Amino acid sequence: MESSVADRLSAGPKSWKRRLRCPRCASSLRDLDPHPSCSDTSCEYSETGFPLVDAQPVLIDFATSIFDREMYRADHGSALQRDVTGRSLSSRLHQFTLGNNPIAASNCAKFIDLLMEGSERPIVLVIGGGTIGLGANELYRNSSIELVGTDVYASQYTTLVADAHKLPFEDGVFDGVWVQAVLEHVLEPATIVDEIHRVLRRGGLVYAETPFMQQVHERAYDFSRFTQSGHRWLFKRFSEVSAGPIGGAGVALVWSIRYFCRALGAGNKLSLLISLPFFWIRFFDAFSRGRAVADAASGFFFLGRRADQMINPHSMTEYYDRQK
Ligand SMILES: [Zn+2]
Repeated sequence: MESSVADRLSAGPKSWKRRLRCPRCASSLRDLDPHPSCSDTSCEYSETGFPLVDAQPVLIDFATSIFDREMYRADHGSALQRDVTGRSLSSRLHQFTLGNNPIAASNCAKFIDLLMEGSERPIVLVIGGGTIGLGANELYRNSSIELVGTDVYASQYTTLVADAHKLPFEDGVFDGVWVQAVLEHVLEPATIVDEIHRVLRRGGLVYAETPFMQQVHERAYDFSRFTQSGHRWLFKRFSEVSAGPIGGAGVALVWSIRYFCRALGAGNKLSLLISLPFFWIRFFDAFSRGRAVADAASGFFFLGRRADQMINPHSMTEYYDRQK
């Protein structure tokens, strides 16, 4: 599947490529191939241009980003590279103890159905798309969708490198944005959701998954958690199609066992091994009911549409009461 994904990411007419912009000053870009730079001669990036990593442009405003230009030097490789295939032993053990993500898979099918209602060839931006998110495979298999994968490092699944606090696209380019397990890793989640709102066309779709009861992961790049209400408020300028927990209290408990061992000095690998025999706890999530699930969930999803108006703050207490 991987080669076909890579082929698809580099094929097609790429209408969105003409709608890239400078992440600093929002001017158009010039010489995207081979040396992207800003077209506005008064902009810093007119002179310095943007680096390339693995032939992908790094369209980041380094002055305001947590990421330095140095990280993207050709000889530096991708400083933030992860296990992009998910085939390493620790990735597999992690999935075994915590399960895959069947809710995301069914949400992905719904996301695609809704996209197809609005466009024959929808363009979808994937933020944090350096790896394929759990349950997101259908997005990559569906040949009607034009995917634009972005992340803070280049991989076979990305088209360009960007920091989503300043997306390098003009307004209204995308029919959908997929942002799975990303918003906990950014300095300003609300700024990123504003950017998602900006680059979506009117009525465009967003699908987000963000953790709640999960301990720190990705080391220095972990900043926030959200309750279901907090997650809803983050997407306050979107109308909700559906939302709910991803992983219940059982998944959260397995995470806690692992991090309990880690806090006692067991180290990453040993903690993972010690938590393995407790994988069955997550099966109890199938029996948990009612809104108490949302109070203890491992994370939440939000599927919504770009709206013109923000939701009324007064609606938030009622929103809590109907979570389940
Ligand atoms: Zn510029």
